[in-house]
Amino acid sequence: MDSKIPPANTQRLLLGEAILSATDVRVRRTLLKICGKNREAHLIACSELLTDPAPSASSASGTGQKRKRFEVCMKCKKEYNVEQNNDEACAWHHGQLLFINDDHDIWIDYDDRVYGPMDSKENQEMWPTAFLWGCCDKRADAKGCIISAHMPRPSKKACNRATSPILVE
Ligand SMILES: [Zn+2]
Ligand SMILES: [Zn+2]
Repeated sequence: MDSKIPPANTQRLLLGEAILSATDVRVRRTLLKICGKNREAHLIACSELLTDPAPSASSASGTGQKRKRFEVCMKCKKEYNVEQNNDEACAWHHGQLLFINDDHDIWIDYDDRVYGPMDSKENQEMWPTAFLWGCCDKRADAKGCIISAHMPRPSKKACNRATSPILVE
């Protein structure tokens, strides 16, 4: 049965598995390498990952250069498409996860002599709903209490334009 599968197909499946299980860094390096060697791959990556300049930015800077299509928002920490960003696209909390949510089951038998302080970073990461936001007193999984446009993280390039990224093998 297995012998009927063409080797090319088997290899394609294996490659799919390898891509899915590879680390982010490994996939990024591989993609950069492919784009550097193959013009068509370069163009596909450009159309997937870049977009036209923002209408206001093109007239202000005058460069008319493309920009990244996807950014990660400083406020909600999510990835967003810059073409779909608007004044109501983002919901975030301006406070921190500070208060203990007394209703949460995790605190019933919690012994801080065994597990450490209740409001530790580890606990916040492990049981976010056991905490409340300092800004609005809502549970950690509640929708953000501030609505705004997504805000991109300041790009590293802007801080250090002279250096180009170096790929270490
Ligand atoms: Zn809030
Ligand atoms: Zn956002």
